[in-house]
Amino acid sequence: MHIIHIASELAPVAKVGGLADVVHGLCRELNQQGHSTEILLPKYDCLRTDLLSDLKVETPELWVPDGHYSFNNTIWSARYDDLNVRLIETHHSQLYFNRGVIYGCPDDIDRFSYFSKAAMEYLFKTEKKPDIIHVHDWPTALIPVLHKEIYSKVGFKPKKIVLTIHNMEHQGRCSPQHLTRAGLPGNDLLDPDKMQDPYSFNHVNLLKGGIEYSDQITTVSPKYEVEIQSSQGGFGLHEVLIKHRKKLTGILNGIDTTFWNPEADSYLFQNYPANRASKTTLSEIIAGKEENKNQLRTQLGLAPSAQPVVGCITRLVPQKSPALIKHAIERTLEKGGQFVLLGSSPIPEIQNDFLALKEHYRTRRDVAIILENDERLAHWIFAGADMFVIPSLFEPCGLTQLIAMRYGTVPIVRLTGGLADTVFDVDTSTKPLGERNGFTFEFPDTGGVNWALDRALTCYKEHPKKWHSIILNGMRIDHSWKQPAKLYAALYKE
Ligand code: ADP
Repeated sequence: MHIIHIASELAPVAKVGGLADVVHGLCRELNQQGHSTEILLPKYDCLRTDLLSDLKVETPELWVPDGHYSFNNTIWSARYDDLNVRLIETHHSQLYFNRGVIYGCPDDIDRFSYFSKAAMEYLFKTEKKPDIIHVHDWPTALIPVLHKEIYSKVGFKPKKIVLTIHNMEHQGRCSPQHLTRAGLPGNDLLDPDKMQDPYSFNHVNLLKGGIEYSDQITTVSPKYEVEIQSSQGGFGLHEVLIKHRKKLTGILNGIDTTFWNPEADSYLFQNYPANRASKTTLSEIIAGKEENKNQLRTQLGLAPSAQPVVGCITRLVPQKSPALIKHAIERTLEKGGQFVLLGSSPIPEIQNDFLALKEHYRTRRDVAIILENDERLAHWIFAGADMFVIPSLFEPCGLTQLIAMRYGTVPIVRLTGGLADTVFDVDTSTKPLGERNGFTFEFPDTGGVNWALDRALTCYKEHPKKWHSIILNGMRIDHSWKQPAKLYAALYKE
């Protein structure tokens, strides 16, 4: 099958969060399973072109209408690993993708609507014949609408269009005029069965358009599939999803186990077994983690200690419960442990709050707070920490618990979304003992965090054998893209 992904992110060249990892990991595995994929992305000025190979102009001129005007675009082709990438460089007067950021501009709706339109013009004019077009979240959710309302009528016919919802929180609400600019009948689409927002009747909703108009919808874990059909998890679109539940499937994300591989990770101070994780290699694993932990401490100025290191790597946004992350730091320190937080926030209040916290702990040698994006440090923490905290309010899939387990780092998570599908409590899960791989709590409050964190700290200190079996249970699970990609391929085929 020939599958074209149209997305706003691709790891690592244009990454904000998990969406980028999914597009990368899924396409790579689909290629390995004998399919052919292409990825269409905006050519952001902040795109890591240094990581690409064979970057060259493929189509020098592609005129794309925007309201009463038309703007030229240059289409580039490139490769990243074995991935075929097409980059749309727009010469729009608003310099849509020359903003130094991927998201966060006041005109994000216009930027990504224009990108969606340009992507469809490109596919139409170059007469591509994909079996599947696969779009991701609100930034490219307009594609199925553009297809049905415009491009299918002039003969462009991919077999089917799939939308993946990575996060319901962001939906792209806007006035119908934005659609009119993209050549769509904006006012006609302001209809409850089309794109009208269910709660803001004068607005259209791009994600809703994607749900109504795509042939299949996937989301990133089975539990999140259920949660988004509830008033709490659906962010206003639960009834739309219930209406379309027949075309909705939850497929758990994988991780790129070549990239995230303690055996070969070039960032690490010492590599250690992962694919061969078993009782016979346990001592190598523990020794490897110990060395990485000591080096992590040295790099971050933490004191040498026999106490465990608790890690957390996250975007600091309300979804991730910043207050509970702060609480987990305090609680860990109270209990004598050490804490390393790597995070950054697009929200100035939250960023400033954590800057103040960092200042508060400035003289302490048992806590390190790094408020940046740092890939190398992320690898050091995944390998060097003993446990990893994720107290999210909601978590569609969550990749960090999967990466942590791959590195033998025990997750402590709130039972929500993909966290609930992948982390099974040592004491309370109904899973067989050999599948229990972490500590969980149900309610997103300080009592919940204490309950799970305290049990983990006690287990680490007092029951090393049990602790080691939890590490191995986590490392043994195959969270590669092999199985998820098979499920996507089966869905495409259907
Ligand atoms: P989300 O997509 O909601 O941000 P996920 O857990 O699905 O959360 O994916 C987060 C990804 O981003 C992981 O690969 C994680 O390692 C990475 N990440 C998050 N914050 C940072 C940071 N400050 N520095 C480096 N990597 C980060």
